[in-house]
Amino acid sequence: MRENATTKVQDEFEIVIGLEIHVQLLTASKMFCGCSTRFGAPPNTQVCPVCLGLPGSLPVINRKAVELGLRTALALNCTIHPQSQFHRKNYYYPDLPKNYQISQYQYKDHPPLASDGHLTFEFDGQARTVRIRRVHLEEDTGKLVHVERDGTVLYSLVDYNRSGVPLMEIVTEPDLRSPEEAREFLSRLRTLLQYLEVSSGRMEEGTLRCDANVSLRRRGEPLGIRTEVKNMNSLRAVEKALSFEVARQREILQAGGEVVQETRHWDERREVTFGSREKEEAQDYRYFPEPDLVPMVLDPAWIEEIRRTLPELPEERRRRYVEQYALSPHDAALLVENKAMADFFEATIKLFPQPKTVCNWLLGDVTGYANTHGMEFTDLPLTPEKLAEMLKLMEDGTISIRLAKEILEEMLATGKDASSIVAEKGLVQIRDEDALRAIVEEVIAENPNPVRDYRAGKEKALTFLVGQVMRKTSGRANPDLVNRLLKERLHG
Ligand code: ADP
Ligand code: MG
Ligand code: ZN
Repeated sequence: MRENATTKVQDEFEIVIGLEIHVQLLTASKMFCGCSTRFGAPPNTQVCPVCLGLPGSLPVINRKAVELGLRTALALNCTIHPQSQFHRKNYYYPDLPKNYQISQYQYKDHPPLASDGHLTFEFDGQARTVRIRRVHLEEDTGKLVHVERDGTVLYSLVDYNRSGVPLMEIVTEPDLRSPEEAREFLSRLRTLLQYLEVSSGRMEEGTLRCDANVSLRRRGEPLGIRTEVKNMNSLRAVEKALSFEVARQREILQAGGEVVQETRHWDERREVTFGSREKEEAQDYRYFPEPDLVPMVLDPAWIEEIRRTLPELPEERRRRYVEQYALSPHDAALLVENKAMADFFEATIKLFPQPKTVCNWLLGDVTGYANTHGMEFTDLPLTPEKLAEMLKLMEDGTISIRLAKEILEEMLATGKDASSIVAEKGLVQIRDEDALRAIVEEVIAENPNPVRDYRAGKEKALTFLVGQVMRKTSGRANPDLVNRLLKERLHG
């Protein structure tokens, strides 16, 4: 009964999701002044009259930020507007010293940097296209730090180092149809931004932030009332917050109620969204053109130059890996998804030209190590030189596969290279026939039953005996050699 009811409800409603993504751009200086954007400096050391909003200071547009915005807009197939205008978005908050944010607002004759693009990706075995409503530039706010004791805020501190850091906002049309799909889209977009070298894409550090708008509607009906969920700092959190919100809205609608249009916050610990307690009022930001900046007019030749010099994008790279290196589409996709790992892969195969082997190690043991230790690939003390050296030792038979796995683990834990670990631990494979023959004799003497089985035609028994030799040598024996010696002895 219950299962049927759920299924029916799921069919009754269609999920509608649109994302607003804020991206901190990888520029050396801020959006409208020369202050550094370096992360982690002592509070309020990277500030000046412009980003502190002191009277009389004047903004100047950061050319690099515009270039990064254009790069993104072109990769997202947007229409670039050769003339656009910055606006003031007015509101009062202590992290905003000017009491307005310089942003871009869509007016009829005042377009943002770019609009009307799309991103196509594969989800659930189907090609999906999400339309991009616009890409625009703005500036970040300062950061408030609330000092608490026993759960009560005692006072708040403000750090203006982030005030004025270049931000790009990407807004999608409400084209996403499930929390899982929204997560996949965001993951693809993040990878794209990393390939474009526009953003570090670290949601945990807030350099990529996503506000998710979600509503439900009965099939065929106009868009329903939406809520906007904020404060998710991972892809997983975006998916979970959306799932929670879908379930919450579904319950309201099923009971005949109405969803309230509001901003809700994701509580990572309790895994729920909650509305702000203050009464929400329709915000009036009193947008008007920024009088301190002339309209931004872009040279068409510059736009073309940026288009021509776009780097290889994930989709192309994935295709190339399949064609050029004969990787499986699945492996190619996994590798390409992580730009740092794909770059590492390319550097490694220059030194050790066996793409499949290198790919397997990266996606297997290396990724496994990173996952179990909660590390990013880029945090690992591995270099293409070190990995290639280890693979060469394996190829020339100095170490067995089993040893290679152990050695890699130690390399990842200590940053040492393979040959020093081999030397320190005396891990070189045993290829000395006389030494191995003695061990083969021992194993045969200790295992009369498997020996009898093998002689009676049970091939499998040999595997067991080889395993025993490997065990006695702590995996250091050369397996091919052990195999041959055992056979010679048992047949002889
Ligand atoms: P605002 O300008 O007030 O932020 P927009 O209409 O520009 O609102 O939409 C912001 C985001 O919300 C966009 O990503 C859009 O796709 C999405 N959105 C708009 N309406 C809905 C809806 N009914 N359900 C889900 N998402 C929506
Ligand atoms: Mg909005
Ligand atoms: Zn400044």
